[in-house]
Amino acid sequence: MIVYVNGKFLPKEEAKVSVFDHGFLYGDGVFEGIRAYNGRIFKLDGHIDRLLDSAKAIDLKVEWSHQELCDLCYESLKQNDLEDAYLRVIISRGEGDLGLNPYLCAKPGLVIISGKIKLYPKELYDEGMAVITGATPRIAPEALNPKIKSLNYLNNIMAKMEGLEHGVQETLMLNSQGFLAEATGDNIFLIKNSVIFTPPEEAGILLGITRETVMDLVKESGYTIIEKNLSRYDVYTSDECFLTGTAAEIISVTKVDGRVIGEGKPGSITLELLEKFRALTLGK
Ligand code: PMP
Repeated sequence: MIVYVNGKFLPKEEAKVSVFDHGFLYGDGVFEGIRAYNGRIFKLDGHIDRLLDSAKAIDLKVEWSHQELCDLCYESLKQNDLEDAYLRVIISRGEGDLGLNPYLCAKPGLVIISGKIKLYPKELYDEGMAVITGATPRIAPEALNPKIKSLNYLNNIMAKMEGLEHGVQETLMLNSQGFLAEATGDNIFLIKNSVIFTPPEEAGILLGITRETVMDLVKESGYTIIEKNLSRYDVYTSDECFLTGTAAEIISVTKVDGRVIGEGKPGSITLELLEKFRALTLGK
C-alpha cells in the first residue's frame, strides 16, 4: 500500500506523521471517506467541496485547490493500482507545539490512504441489521456543528460502543432535544405508507453525500421525501428503515431497540433504492 503523506507517496511502513501534529494531539483536522468504483471516484467533487467547507468552518487554511485534491485522489488510486477502493483524505492542522493554539502550527498536513473497506457482511444487507438507540446524544451544533466532518469522532465512538456492548453494529443517535439525528457513521431514512422521511439539517447531522444522492433517487423514482424532525415513535412505527453512507451504501435496518421494523426484512422500497444506487455507482 502506498500512502500520500505531506507531499510524498510512501510505502505504508514509511507513512508517518509527527506526534506534534494537532490532528493527533487534539483531533484538530477534517477528513473525508470516499469510494471509487471501476476506477471512477464517486461524487468526488461533492466530497472535496465538503472537505474544503469543513476546513473553512474551523479556519484551517488549506493550501491545495479543489482540482489539486481531486488529482491527488486519482493519483493515489493509480499508485495503488486500485479500481475499487475506499479513500480516506485527512487534512490536519499540522505540526505545532503542546498548546492548543492552532495558529502556531506552521502548515496543514495532508494524508491520502487508498484501501478497501467492508463495513458489514453480505448477510446484513440480505437480512437487514439490528441497531439500538444510544444514550449518548449527538453533539449539539452550537458546540461543534456535525456538518463539519472533523477528526473529533469521540461522541460517535461512545455511541458506537453502546451498540457493540449490546451486540449490534450501529447505534442511532438522538440530538439533545430527543429527535433522531443519525447513526454513528451513517444517515437515517424511514418509510411510512410509501413516503420517505429523513431528519433535516437542523437536527444536527452530517449532510451525507449518500443521503443527498438517495434523496435525488427517491425523487426520480416518483416518491415523496420529507425532511422533518423524527422521534423514536416514528422509527418504531415505520414500515421500512435504512441507513446511508459512503462505506455502507444503503443498508436496511430491521430491528431497533429489540423491536421488529415493518416485516422484519429489507423492504421493497429500500431494495429498489439500493439497486438504483448501485447502478449509479457503476455509472449505469
Ligand atoms: N453521518 C456520519 C456521522 C458519518 O460519519 C457519515 C460518513 N461515514 C455519514 C453520516 C454518511 O455520510 P456520507 O454519505 O457522505 O458518507
